[in-house]
Amino acid sequence: MAAVTVTNLVKTYPSGNRRATDDISLDVADGEFVVLVGPSGCGKTTLLRMVAGLETPDSGTVSIGGRDVTRLPARERGLSMVFQSYAIFPHLKVRQNIGFGLTMQKVGKAEWNTRVERAAELLDLTDYLDRHPAQLSGGQRQRVAVARAIAVDADVLLMDEPLSNLDALLRLQFRAELKKIVARLGTTTLYVTHDQAEAMSLGDRVAVMRDGRIAQIGAPMDVYDHPGERFVGGFLGAPPMNFFTATVHHGNLVVDDQSVPAPASLAAWNDKKVLAGIRAENITITPITQDRAQEGVEAEVEVAEPTGSAILLTVRWAGGELKVQTGPGVRVAPGDRLRLDLPAAALRFYDPETGLALA
Ligand code: ATP
Repeated sequence: MAAVTVTNLVKTYPSGNRRATDDISLDVADGEFVVLVGPSGCGKTTLLRMVAGLETPDSGTVSIGGRDVTRLPARERGLSMVFQSYAIFPHLKVRQNIGFGLTMQKVGKAEWNTRVERAAELLDLTDYLDRHPAQLSGGQRQRVAVARAIAVDADVLLMDEPLSNLDALLRLQFRAELKKIVARLGTTTLYVTHDQAEAMSLGDRVAVMRDGRIAQIGAPMDVYDHPGERFVGGFLGAPPMNFFTATVHHGNLVVDDQSVPAPASLAAWNDKKVLAGIRAENITITPITQDRAQEGVEAEVEVAEPTGSAILLTVRWAGGELKVQTGPGVRVAPGDRLRLDLPAAALRFYDPETGLALA
């Protein structure tokens, strides 16, 4: 096993008008599972391909296990890869497909069999070893690709959207399986996805990328709870974090005639505008009463969407539209007026100009 260190990686494609990766540095510890996530075109695949040795950086270095591999070809980097367009050879049986990397490495027959069978077992493919890929479901084929990557026992596993060809249910099942398998193997893993839920569920850490840079990296729940910039809060989570602009005024956040208590940390922003963020599940609703001391702001329900385990409300208040997640038993309908509690401890604050979190 081995740590992966990427230092100041810059890459511009000849036909590209901006940097595909813009001075990226990243440390993946030995045995760690790091997920690169971000919108289309943010540079995830380019970064992974530079680690793989399939793309040459303009500048910067890649080291694996303390060895500078920047100029080494892919096959000398001790890596194993699974890509979105996984190349399962149709004319080879599952057994030979899984053992393909081992065949290339000229591994002896006994060892070859042991490793193929172990990988097949891990991915629940033992009963399919003598089938051809055409006789498998899409999910099983994808598992063959992962089994092949695992069979070679590489120091580092690189995966680029390996679950993208699966339907939603299979994807969910396989996600959990993959997490279990990688944890058991303890292989250092770098994984690319544009699916934020997949990133959160799989990674020891997630690196949220934007425009060729890592906007934020951390443990999934830390990044989710404390987005370092507006973009990250808006990218992670379904629904994304809610944002509204408010003026800080003597310990309150004021929006039109509505106000909620502001944390003391905002004192330096008195009489200035801030961008406030809050997650849908951190907002609580109560019916509006005549009680003048009632906390919170007034809102009107626009849409109520039951999702089974919860109800997702779209509400409108002086600060605009908010998504609110309530328990499944709550009965509300469009047009209902509610009071929203926006607890100060759940609010996050950003500079409205830069979108960066306020210290
Ligand atoms: P996706 O999720 O859509 O796969 P990504 O985050 O993996 O996106 P990259 O494929 O790394 O993004 O692309 C980063 C940027 O580099 C994009 O602007 C893309 O258009 C550009 N790019 C990628 N490959 C090439 C190429 N071969 N030639 C020119 N530009 C490229």
